[in-house]
Amino acid sequence: MTRQKGPPGRVVYPIGNRLYVNLTNGCSLKCSFCFKNTGQGPQVDDYDLTLERQPSPTDIRKGLADLEGYEEVVFCGFGEPTLRLPTMLEIAEFIQRKGKPVRLNTDGLANRVFRRDVTPQLAGRVDRVSVSLNAQDAETYNRLCRPPWPDAFDYLQDFIRKAREHVEQVTATAVEGLEGVDIEACRRLAEEELGVEFRPRQLDRVG
Ligand code: SF4
Repeated sequence: MTRQKGPPGRVVYPIGNRLYVNLTNGCSLKCSFCFKNTGQGPQVDDYDLTLERQPSPTDIRKGLADLEGYEEVVFCGFGEPTLRLPTMLEIAEFIQRKGKPVRLNTDGLANRVFRRDVTPQLAGRVDRVSVSLNAQDAETYNRLCRPPWPDAFDYLQDFIRKAREHVEQVTATAVEGLEGVDIEACRRLAEEELGVEFRPRQLDRVG
């Protein structure tokens, strides 16, 4: 029996009292633990998040027409939302006008992708940022997340520090149970060096 919730191409999907926006299937990383790379397929909580094309701002706004009953809207799909930065910011403004808080789940590499500091653009548009720290050091990060840039972990940490200046709540996360990931060392790095909260997460859960 299939438990799949609807056809592929889901742009907006609810889980509990949150509404999630799937902006893109594009990624900066090729994480070894990602469902995209483990053959499990792009499904989250039984939603198929395969996108045949990038949803337009109009498509996305239609999916966000009724936000009644949701406590926040989260940019989190099967790809990196900041790869569509102008659209993401436009939709964040739309959600803010509807009076709902906005969270961004990100790999924290936007400043490397765009070669400039994008964090000031989050101010007033994004209330919370959850950044995938994923590891306690660059060596572990590079092995697990396979970034195209050797200095990605430095950029990620710098993004966290800069985002703190513009966003009310910044949280670093790491997946529990991955080989070589020391969750307590990740916590220390986040809390003591980067000055943000830390939250361990489970691989098959959207947070
Ligand atoms: S950043 Fe997320 S979606 Fe992209 S490869 Fe890594 S786990 Fe998968």
